[in-house]
Amino acid sequence: TPSLYIVATPIGNFDDLPQRAIDVLNQVDLIACEDTRHSGRLFAHFGINSKTVAVHDHNERQRAQWIIDQLSAGLSCALVSDAGTPLISDPGYHLVKQVREAGFEVSPIPGACAAIAALSASGLPSDRFSFEGFLPAKEKAKLDTLKGLAQDSRTLIFYESPRRVLATLSCMVESLGADREIVMARELTKTFETFLHGPVTEVLSRVEQDLDQQKGEIVLLIKGHQKQADELPQAAIETVVLLQQDLP
Ligand code: SAM
Repeated sequence: TPSLYIVATPIGNFDDLPQRAIDVLNQVDLIACEDTRHSGRLFAHFGINSKTVAVHDHNERQRAQWIIDQLSAGLSCALVSDAGTPLISDPGYHLVKQVREAGFEVSPIPGACAAIAALSASGLPSDRFSFEGFLPAKEKAKLDTLKGLAQDSRTLIFYESPRRVLATLSCMVESLGADREIVMARELTKTFETFLHGPVTEVLSRVEQDLDQQKGEIVLLIKGHQKQADELPQAAIETVVLLQQDLP
């Protein structure tokens, strides 16, 4: 049966496109691209000439039915986003859901993903983590989201735009405390790849002082909340408070 292939593309370095991705992109009848011009540069580099069609946030739901029609007609399709793995803070969820519901196979061609690449080299605990995508742009919503995550013991992973990184680091100081350990991974797989590591206030002042750190593509990783040895679980604290009320 015809399939939809979910193909990861590089997050910077074109050499990170796997051979199987090149083969599949060459073989399919149709490649759905987040941005056909953007992906066109990658395809040109590898001599990939398959037909392309735009599937982005604004037309994904309608285009999904059209792609199902193509699959029904016996054509095979691939989905790519501008960079990395489709659906990961990128379009594709509605397409995959609808194509599966229509009874067609969906098969991943795995490759780069900025969140996983950053985590793998960050030095932060990687046994349990939570990918949080982009924080809300508005200050209040951003702060509330971070406060809601402050007690989470897992490593937290965020995507961030360079325009907002200073504001976000300030919010992190406010919601997580100045000493929380973070890692800022920037320009992964590219010429100016950088990892900044340390307490969030330290990373903030380094980014404030160095305009270059406010450019490019950024992943922020937060070390999970560490329970202090003398810190009781919330339920235990509440029980103690109740008991104390009855004590003479
Ligand atoms: N689907 C992509 C993936 O699998 O990583 C993510 C797409 S999302 C729209 C773009 C964000 O990913 C950027 O704002 C940045 O936070 C992160 N990102 C992408 N490429 C990166 C890179 N080379 N270095 C650091 N972060 C990157």
